[in-house]
Amino acid sequence: MAEIKQVRLCGYGGQGIVLAGTILGYAGINDGKQVAGSSTYGAAARGGTCYSDVVISDRPIIYPHVIKADVLIVMSQRAYDKFVTDVDHENGMVIYDERLVSVKEIDNLKQVAVSATEPAIRELGSKQVANIIILGAAVGMTKIVSKDALISAIDKNVTKRFKDLNLKAAELGLKLGKTDQKEYLAGANTTVEGRTQKPVVNNALCVSCDLCRLLCPDLCITLRGEKTGIEIDYDFCKGCGICATECPKVAIKFEELYL
Ligand code: SF4
Ligand code: SF4
Repeated sequence: MAEIKQVRLCGYGGQGIVLAGTILGYAGINDGKQVAGSSTYGAAARGGTCYSDVVISDRPIIYPHVIKADVLIVMSQRAYDKFVTDVDHENGMVIYDERLVSVKEIDNLKQVAVSATEPAIRELGSKQVANIIILGAAVGMTKIVSKDALISAIDKNVTKRFKDLNLKAAELGLKLGKTDQKEYLAGANTTVEGRTQKPVVNNALCVSCDLCRLLCPDLCITLRGEKTGIEIDYDFCKGCGICATECPKVAIKFEELYL
């Protein structure tokens, strides 16, 4: 690792971007580094694009803002479009939530997809910890801070009520960061070929609220028409489970394929 690492975390207000930046900064301090940081607040706090800059160095930091990011952690398309030019294209990397961001090809720039929102919902029951999953994955991949420093920073900065959940999210993210993403996705039954369960809809219970269609990351759900239920295209469904988890009428169940 070079002497100075510049990290920008970005997304939209309400995703916990600033908290993730604070945790990363404290983790740097836990590792005995010099840390400086800044975040956007105010009008951008909920819904608008926001970011948190964290500079971690072995030496005193003169300028506390990111000039060229070594690591850009991105959780929204708008933030990606806005900040991707601020990454060091030769040596930097973009780590993005694959459900929320579509990247464009940029010569020499390493861009790594992380499945953060999806396991936050599926495995931890709350998309609010996707920020910690992607932070954990970034730490696992880049070693900007140590694992112990990250865990300790979460312990100190997250309220008691949400601590266990955030610690689980960090562990999941760290694991993701160590794993080849494709391997992880296959292991998590998220490819069509590797799918071991499939969603089956009971259209008698479906009220055509459209939620599953909007949330499906693979756009494989269609509404049949007003109040006549949905159809799932199994050629594209990867078995992620989001539709079943989120359906307010419990109209979608999972069928095991290879038991
Ligand atoms: S989320 Fe449930 S109720 Fe809503 S359209 Fe999908 S299956 Fe029907
Ligand atoms: S399990 Fe549901 S949400 Fe996931 S890909 Fe299949 S239809 Fe879409």
